[in-house]
Amino acid sequence: MNPILLVTGGSRGIGAATARLAATRGWDVAVNYTRDAAAASAVAAEVRAAGRRAWVLQADVADDAQVVAMFQALDREAGVLAGLVNNAGVVDVAARVDEMSAARWQRMFAINVFGTFACSREAVRRMSTRDGGGPWKATGGGRGGVIVNLSSAAARLGSPGQYVDYAAAKGAIDVFTLGLAKEVAAEGVRVNAVRPGLIETEIHASGGQPDRARQLAPQVPMQRTGTAEEVAAAIVWLLSDESSYTTASMLDVAGGR
Ligand code: NAP
Repeated sequence: MNPILLVTGGSRGIGAATARLAATRGWDVAVNYTRDAAAASAVAAEVRAAGRRAWVLQADVADDAQVVAMFQALDREAGVLAGLVNNAGVVDVAARVDEMSAARWQRMFAINVFGTFACSREAVRRMSTRDGGGPWKATGGGRGGVIVNLSSAAARLGSPGQYVDYAAAKGAIDVFTLGLAKEVAAEGVRVNAVRPGLIETEIHASGGQPDRARQLAPQVPMQRTGTAEEVAAAIVWLLSDESSYTTASMLDVAGGR
């Protein structure tokens, strides 16, 4: 049986590229999404075309009950989880902090931060070898696993005048990655983060700036934007045994920015 991977926000962009590449590297893949069922199903079809099993799971990662239900569905339909990519994430329109609403901050942290916390909690409950599989184990699993979190170069840059709230949320992801990695390092679970730079996906349009990545490309030392596939390659390496001694790491995939 192939190892099972859950990619949150797997319906497009970096998550979809990760699902596709992971399938070619031997993973069965569960594709999570919130709104676009057709796009998630198309990614799942590509995973199956690569000869792997695939599942499509709708859940808003910001909703704790939906996250719990998604992992329970995975237990029933797929089996023991071996990998999690906490990829689901959002930006908001460019604004200064003194223009932002509390509702915006709530959404920013609910999806980007608490969604990652909740999915990681459920994954560790299934992956950790602690006590050799205690009664709290949902699946009788406890065979170890790997978690990759999507941070951002914004966590280093701060994104002034654009979205300091998003950058701060990704800063929280970096610290969460460090702490959780050390907490579960002796329990067979590795936890790392990838910090993409300016990557050509639809996330920029969702923040009202479809050309943002291309416009800022001259600021990148490599003088170009990155692709979702280039980020996926780093994520899939961190999922693989080739990175077996790598945990609590932040991997910048940002062209030197
Ligand atoms: P994207 O193209 O906008 O895709 C986002 C994905 O997340 C979609 O599949 C979307 O699915 C899903 N999603 C959004 N809210 C969700 C929720 N509440 N619950 C579950 N799924 C949800 O984004 P991307 O550019 O690929 O970014 C992926 C990750 O990389 C994000 O964490 C982002 O912050 C990070 N990142 C991106 C860049 C970049 O330049 N693109 C740079 C640094 C970091 P639905 O459409 O179905 O809701």
